[in-house]
Amino acid sequence: MRWHSATLGVALCATALGAAPRSDAALKVVTTLSTFADLAKSVGGDHVAVSSVAAPQFNPHFIEPKPSDILRVKKADLFIHAGLDLEVWRGPLVDAAGNPQIRPGGAKELDVSRGVPLLEVPDNTVTRAQGDIHAYGNPHYWLEPENGRRIARTIAAKLEEIDAANAVDYAKNLAGFEARLDAKLPEWKAAMAPHAGTEIIGYHNEWPYLMQFLGLKMDKFLEPKPGIPPTPKRTEFLEQYMKQNNVKIIAQAAYFPTKASDALAQRTGGRVVMLSQSVKDQKDATDYLAMVDHNVKALAAALQQH
Ligand SMILES: [Zn+2]
Repeated sequence: MRWHSATLGVALCATALGAAPRSDAALKVVTTLSTFADLAKSVGGDHVAVSSVAAPQFNPHFIEPKPSDILRVKKADLFIHAGLDLEVWRGPLVDAAGNPQIRPGGAKELDVSRGVPLLEVPDNTVTRAQGDIHAYGNPHYWLEPENGRRIARTIAAKLEEIDAANAVDYAKNLAGFEARLDAKLPEWKAAMAPHAGTEIIGYHNEWPYLMQFLGLKMDKFLEPKPGIPPTPKRTEFLEQYMKQNNVKIIAQAAYFPTKASDALAQRTGGRVVMLSQSVKDQKDATDYLAMVDHNVKALAAALQQH
């Protein structure tokens, strides 16, 4: 019977080890975007190992996932994405991964657009045939700090659900993030207050949530439609419009070419402001709050000089 007790001893030992916190037991969280990875890390802390698919310096609408990305998504404990039609590459990626649990509605899938009040939701007469890649409403919602809070809460609720043993830590980490966010809100509002209602031009229609938060106006874009590059006719129209209405600022993300924006700025005596669309796409946008900070400071600085 000695053999038997030895086996039992090994089994007990393994159970004890399994219950102890170990770094290799961290939940594997894979996100489409760097911004969601950052928020998942803020909420998940040491209990999660987070990675993202889309490198922040590229247009999040158009990414080509690598075979290694497909494998990571397949093996993920949680797959976090923007929902809507933001990642036009998400469907093929999920299909290729072949894991039913990360498919829409699966136990390991999280669409963080849930619970976000969407802007520009079209009526049912708009179709993708018109060249629109925002067919379900504007999908760039994470740039608004209150939506950052909503996303963090959605992630925390999901982590608490799939890893109940660490629920207290997730709640604590979320509270910490919200406290840091709350501390920044008055500063951001104050920086933009003198510029309330000022109009600026965008390259791609990816800033309406940020504009709403900052109290600025932006409804004209270099792209004639989301995903359609600027045309000479469009640039000509904007030149006249900016001159007639004394609009001086053109905002864009770094992953779009700057040629059309620079030319327009030159012809109108205006200026191009590079905003952060994703965590780490600008040097100082090191995390979620730093990304919002970059955008507020860049816009405030430009508006002060014009
Ligand atoms: Zn877009």
